[in-house]
Amino acid sequence: MDLVIARPEGLYCPPGDFYIDPWRPVERSVITHAHGDHARTGNEHYLAAAPGEGILRSRLGQDINLQTLAYGESITHHGVKLSLHPAGHVLGSAQVRLGYQGEIWVASGDYKVEPDGTCEPFEPVRCHTFITESTFGLPIYRWQPQSEIFAGINEWWRSNAAAGKASVLFAYSFGKAQRILHGIDSSIGPILVHGAVEPLNRVYREAGVRIPETHYAGDFKKTDPALRSALIVAPPSAGGSTWMRRFGEFSDAFASGWMMLRGTRRRRGVDRGFALSDHADWPGLLWAIENTGAERVMVTHGSVAVLVRYLRELGLDAQGFSTEYGDEEDDAAVKTEPEPESTGGASS
Ligand SMILES: [Zn+2]
Ligand SMILES: [Zn+2]
Repeated sequence: MDLVIARPEGLYCPPGDFYIDPWRPVERSVITHAHGDHARTGNEHYLAAAPGEGILRSRLGQDINLQTLAYGESITHHGVKLSLHPAGHVLGSAQVRLGYQGEIWVASGDYKVEPDGTCEPFEPVRCHTFITESTFGLPIYRWQPQSEIFAGINEWWRSNAAAGKASVLFAYSFGKAQRILHGIDSSIGPILVHGAVEPLNRVYREAGVRIPETHYAGDFKKTDPALRSALIVAPPSAGGSTWMRRFGEFSDAFASGWMMLRGTRRRRGVDRGFALSDHADWPGLLWAIENTGAERVMVTHGSVAVLVRYLRELGLDAQGFSTEYGDEEDDAAVKTEPEPESTGGASS
């Protein structure tokens, strides 16, 4: 019996009568993480990992009907034993493990295998059937160790500061921005953030993640000398907007896995691209799949056909699974994030 099937509303567990990351409103939902394409409004009941509660409530509303589980804690619903396990993607991200009549299925949600210090590291979970994402499921995607990426960002920021220029770094406001703030050398200069980034910083700090002091960029005037050595972290949608004028002369950069491709860098028109991704690269996907011990693999959003073909060559029973998940790192998928009203000297 299949413990998860694709339905128009989303991935559905027939014996448990609930959905995983549904894209249409349902009665019972299990949410792997709070990125917009996985966590949507309108469900009557939400179940998610406890470390993600603050983010989910801040994005979907404080009053959602949300039940949380600690990682590894289990509940049984209609005979299906369900538990959540770290996916290493963003704060609170989880893989969903389902057990029913001796069958074990795991749905990964989005995941990354390199630990980054801003969320619980990915944990392989043994199962018979593994539902994996494949955002970067092509052999060309191989990430540099993040320590090298951060060294590159620091060097770029330092040389801009030495030349008296601000450094504007575009990054998705939930997850990527906090990972950058956690990983950079905060002694180089002041750190300013866009109004879409700061509320997420606050939730990460409340969860005990070390995020250096940040200042609300909107509070600075163009003439402020602090801007000459500042790092400004902003969502991609701020690029080219009037919001950018306050920084005078600046160098800009974009942090995303897609920056590995020269064409994407050129299309974005930024000075620098840093290939920093919150998803597994090709070796990471294969490592994760192997460590589940699964004989059957269902591949969702990304390079489905390529990964399915490769897994079949390895002798696994692999197939594609159609979903409506997008990709928060794809610039085309990044929706405009309106800047909230001035938060009035947000931060630290
Ligand atoms: Zn995600
Ligand atoms: Zn996704």
